[in-house]
This record gives sequence, structure tokens and C-alpha cells, in this order.
Amino acid sequence: MEQIVIISGASSGIGRASAERFIAGGATVYNFDLQEPTDPAAGSIWRQCDVTDDVQVASLVDAVVAAEGRVDVVIANAGISIRRPFLQMKRAEIEKLFSINVIGVINLWQAAGRHMFDAGSGVLLATASTNGTAGYPWYADYNASKAAVLALCKSVALELAPRVRTACVSPGYVMTPMQRLEYSDEMIEEVNAKIPSGRHAEPSEIASAFYFLASPDAAFITGQQLIVDGGELAGGTASAYRTGIADSLSV
Ligand code: NAD
Repeated sequence: MEQIVIISGASSGIGRASAERFIAGGATVYNFDLQEPTDPAAGSIWRQCDVTDDVQVASLVDAVVAAEGRVDVVIANAGISIRRPFLQMKRAEIEKLFSINVIGVINLWQAAGRHMFDAGSGVLLATASTNGTAGYPWYADYNASKAAVLALCKSVALELAPRVRTACVSPGYVMTPMQRLEYSDEMIEEVNAKIPSGRHAEPSEIASAFYFLASPDAAFITGQQLIVDGGELAGGTASAYRTGIADSLSV
């Protein structure tokens, strides 16, 4: 049976790539995004949605269930980041960030989770980040928001098991419009040199992780994060100081 999937923030980046991956696997995909996609994943169905608005999110999820009979998979992916020093963060920005990155996940997971729990099955997924596990300068509020998503994932897993599973994908650096906006070419090169895999991820590589977590192959995985980071966290913060040892080895 084809999967009925809702992805927030699928007009761009990781969400769009995930929509493509699920559609390629035969799913029906709804894209809940504030912005109409300029280059939509072919076959995805856009619904204008502000994930911070719980009433709107619930009514859009209800409409999907009314039209399709169920919702099988949700990916709460919409998120923003703002690069600036902690001491200069403004309250209004912090509240906006938390309301999209954390409350937005709660709104979508609650609205879909109620249907899934009643139906007896479903998978609630979210895009967290390596920033939820390690500290990074200039993104203190963003990092705290992603740690909150990881904590949510564990608690909701306990409450909804065994009917509904939860999981997060925690990407490292991914080459998306969000990333391009905040990083110059020089900054991207500098970051690539610190990642053991030597590059940013492609959005499709994050989409593959979501596709796996939503599949029956992942039936025993709940309350966990799957880190997809090219080795960035493997050495803790040590991977931020890539030594070049691998490059100098001759075999
Ligand atoms: P992106 O900016 O390319 O896409 C984000 C999408 O979310 C956009 O289409 C935007 O319109 C939508 N959106 C923003 N606010 C919204 C709202 N209130 N309601 C509905 N939609 C809204 O970003 P991306 O890089 O693809 O990021 C997607 C997710 O991945 C985010 O949660 C981000 O924190 C996370 N992430 C990204 C990276 C990276 O390197 N790009 C790394 C780790 C985690």
C-alpha cells in the first residue's frame, strides 16, 4: 500500500529532496510549507502552512486524513537558523526560532500523532541536527532548539509505543539554500576541510535516511536519532580539527 506522507518545509532543501525520495518510492507526499515551491518535487502536493499555527496545522492534517484515509509518515522538517553571537541575540528572533524549530515539530507530531495512534500505526520523524548533540559557536539558540527536538523524540516514543514510532535524522553540513545563504565560498571550503568525508552532504543523502527510518526495515527503531554527518561527530569536537593524517598515509 502506498505511503501517505506529510513533510513540512518541502519547498526547498532537505524537505524537497525527501519529497522526491518518497515519491520515487510510490508515496503520496504533501508539502506543508509557508512558501509555494518555485521548483516543486514533481508530484508533491503543496499546502500553504505555517507550522507555528497549531490550529492551521491540525486542520490541514485532518484534511489529508479525510482525503486519503490515513497518514503514515510525517517529517517535521521546517526550520530556520540565524547566525550571530549569543550575546547579541534578540528575544523576538529567539522566540521565532523556537516557535518554528520546536513548537512547529510539536504541532505537526501532535496533529498527525493523534490519527496515527487511533489507527494503531505511524512514524513521526523530524530533522534535528548535529548541533543538537555538540556545541557550535554563533548558533546557541538553534542548537538548543535541536537538542529540544531530540528530547521530544525520546519522550514521545515512550508514550506512543508500540503503535507509533519516532525518530530524528541529524544532518551535519548539507548543501541547501539555507546553508548557501549563511556561508561564503571561503567558509564552505573551510568547513569541508574539517569534515572527515571532506564535503557537505547532498540533500538526497539526508532524504535516504528518512526513507529508511520510515520503512519496515526500521520497525525496531524508535526514540533515536540517525546522525548523517560524514564523520563530523565521530571524534567528538576533535573532528573539527581534521589532521590530514588520512591524506598523508601511503599504502
Ligand atoms: P531550507 O531553508 O532550504 O528549507 C526550509 C523550508 O522551511 C523552506 O521551504 C521554508 O519556506 C520552510 N519554512 C520556514 N518556516 C516555516 C514555517 N513557519 N512553516 C512552514 N514552513 C516553513 O532549509 P534546509 O537546509 O533544507 O533545512 C531543513 C531542516 O534541516 C531544518 O530544520 C534545518 O534546521 C535542518 N538542518 C539543515 C542543515 C543544513 O546544513 N542545511 C543541517 C542540519 C539540519
